[in-house]
Formats: sequence, structure tokens, C-alpha cells
Amino acid sequence: MTNLSTFTDLGVDEPIRRVLAARGYDTPTPIQVRAIPLLLDGEDVIGIAQTGTGKTAAFALPIVQQLSLGQRRREARALILAPTRELAAQIADSFAAYGKNSGLRVSVIFGGVPQRRQTDRLRRGVDIVVATPGRLLDLVAQGHLDLGFVEHLVLDEADRMLDMGFIPDVRKIIRALPRDRQSLLFSATMPPEVTRLAREILHEPTRIDIAPKAVTVAAIRQTVHFVEGPGKFGLLCDLMADESFSRVIAFTRTKRRADRVAKQLAKAGIACEAIHGDKAQNARQRALESFRQGRVRVLVATDIAARGIDVTGVSHVVNFDLPNEAEVYVHRIGRTARAGAGGAAISFCDSSERDYLRAINALIRKPIAVEGGTMPPRVAAPESPRGGKPAGPRRRNNRPRRRGDHANRAA
Ligand code: AMP
Repeated sequence: MTNLSTFTDLGVDEPIRRVLAARGYDTPTPIQVRAIPLLLDGEDVIGIAQTGTGKTAAFALPIVQQLSLGQRRREARALILAPTRELAAQIADSFAAYGKNSGLRVSVIFGGVPQRRQTDRLRRGVDIVVATPGRLLDLVAQGHLDLGFVEHLVLDEADRMLDMGFIPDVRKIIRALPRDRQSLLFSATMPPEVTRLAREILHEPTRIDIAPKAVTVAAIRQTVHFVEGPGKFGLLCDLMADESFSRVIAFTRTKRRADRVAKQLAKAGIACEAIHGDKAQNARQRALESFRQGRVRVLVATDIAARGIDVTGVSHVVNFDLPNEAEVYVHRIGRTARAGAGGAAISFCDSSERDYLRAINALIRKPIAVEGGTMPPRVAAPESPRGGKPAGPRRRNNRPRRRGDHANRAA
């Protein structure tokens, strides 16, 4: 199977192949090679993969193809759940692009903006809904959307859903879906709660593991500077004096720190924007667009706001603060190696963060090269801003899910 090397070999139809050719997708990525034939066969799949691997197309192409062959209705036949507005918007854009020649209607639903435009759109009829869980439940409760016709469910970035406390909402949504459906779950990591959720919602899934835990994107040059808190900002300014730092994402641990760093950068004459969960949706989109178009050099971001940011040509990722979960480090630095490009990741580590660094080094199985300073003595690590993970309900999957005729229908 893995030596299949064209979209034609994978079973992708001509109208979609035309779109792919226009976007310059010559060769399927590894997750696409593995997932597309399975999904076209109607299988359930767990994909362990990070953003940047091409996973959106891996699930979107087979769904578009199956829906364009199926019977048209006014109601949603595919539902994609994503943890953040940015990711939802991006997935919806991908579906709109891939489905361009199939006439499929895509709606995106997320909170933080008035719901009117979203409900107007739903009223006109829809084939594919991409949504964050909270607003979706609101619209369902108000009768704007019937989930009773969903044939394809995708849970994207399930581990992030867990971190953000969305799993109870996800379970509510699942209960409103037909049991006879194709279900897909994508996650960069598989904490126990996500494994349990997968067991509840997927039927005999095939597991595709594209991002082995121990591997960091090899093309990224990674370095660490040991620097105490007050020195971090000066170091960032020193780095920014180098013009090769042309498009930089700087990650901070909290929203307040993101705002503070952005303010300091602006004062130092460096064009920047901050993006985090307290900013209104349109402010976030505006900031992202300025960054994408090169009007600002630095995007200062928290992890949650940065989910799903898909900007090409990011020259450097700066970990202004180290993340308290090692996997998050891999996510962050992946922003600078979109679709196989190289890049650099520079991490600042103070004495309260040295345990985080140890955990990252253990995960990537190779210590990050030290570029400046010396390992500081240990002090207590700062509190997690999210205050730990929600426990979530414990529910046993004691009813085997009945399968219908997806495989036949997709053939
Ligand atoms: P994703 O992992 O879905 O966030 O995709 C990462 C990036 O890779 C996006 O910018 C996609 O547009 C791009 N991409 C996806 N599949 C391919 C492909 N087969 N060839 C080239 N680029 C791709």
C-alpha cells in the first residue's frame, strides 16, 4: 500500500484531482497515502498525526468524494469538529477548495461572533459542517441544525479538545448523530481519555501512526538559550536584529504575557500582533492576515490561539516560554516546517523551566543544542495556566456499534 504514489492510485476522482493539481499537490503525503484508500472504503480510522502532515486533505478528499457520489439533501452529511475557530475556518476553506468542482456546500460554525450569518447559511442548505463544539450545540438546541443525517464524523485534534475541556460537549454531539456512520479521529497524541473516547465513537478503527512520538520534524534547526525571565525580552530584540528573522511566531505561556511581549516589541519598533483567546474573532483573523501578508514580522501567540495557524514561510519559532507539556513543543516548532519546508526553532529557558526542557529533550530523544547561557539551578516550575485537565465522564462502551453499508456505498 505505501508504494502507491499518486492521487489516482489512491482512488481520488478526476474532479478532485484537478483541484489538487491546481494547488500544486503533486504527490500525496504519507498520511494521505495510508488514509485515503481506507476512508474511501468506508473504514473508521484513528490518525495519530500533527498539523503540517497533510492530514486535513487526508480526511477531506475522501469525504468530498463520497458526498459528491451520494444523494443530495439540505441537511449536513459530514460533520467535522475542531477545537478552535482558526482551525475550523481553515478546515472549512480546505473543504470548500477540494469540493469546488462538486458543488458541495460548506458551513463553518464557531463562537465569539454573532450567530446570524451562520444560521442564515444553514437555512440555505448545507452538505458539510465544520464546527467548534460549543456553538454547534447552541445551534442544534435552537433547531437551526439537524444532525440526524450525518454520515461522516471527524474529530480533529482530539487531544486539544481534551485540553480545552470540550470532551463532554463532544459526547453530547455524538449522541445526536446516527449510529450508522463513518467516524474518524485525529490527534497528535493519545492520552488515555482520548483513547477512551475513540473506543466509544469508532467502530473497529484502523490506526495510522504518522507522527511517532520520539521524532521531531527533522528539517528544523533547534536551539535553546538559557536566560532568566527579565533577560528574555532583550534576547528576543537581539535576535530580531537579524533580518533572516523575517516571519516569526513567538509563543508565550499566558495571554497576559503575549500582550506584554507584543507591546514591548511595538515599543522597540518591531511590527507585531498578539493572538490569544481573549481577542475577538475578527481581531484574531486580522492579526493572522497581517502576519500572513508580511505586514507584521512577529506574531506573539498562546498555544490555544495558535492551533491551526497555517502560514507558510515562517522563518523562526521562538519559544519565549517553554511549554509545560513536551508534545506542545513539537506542535509549536512544526509551524516553521509546513509541508516539508525547513526552519528554525529557538527556545528560551529560565530556571523555572528546566524540567520542561528535560521533558522535551526526553521526548525528542536528542538534547536541543545550547546556543547561549548555562543550565540554571532548579527552582519550582510555574503553575499550568489551564489548571490541569478535566477528568471527563467515565462511560463504558458496552454496546457494539452496528455498521451499515458504507463500504458498499463508497465502492
Ligand atoms: P495540514 O497537515 O492538513 O495542516 O496540511 C499542511 C499543509 O500542507 C497545508 O498547507 C496543505 O495545504 C499542504 N498540503 C497538504 N497535502 C499536500 C500535498 N499532497 N502536497 C503538498 N502540500 C500539501
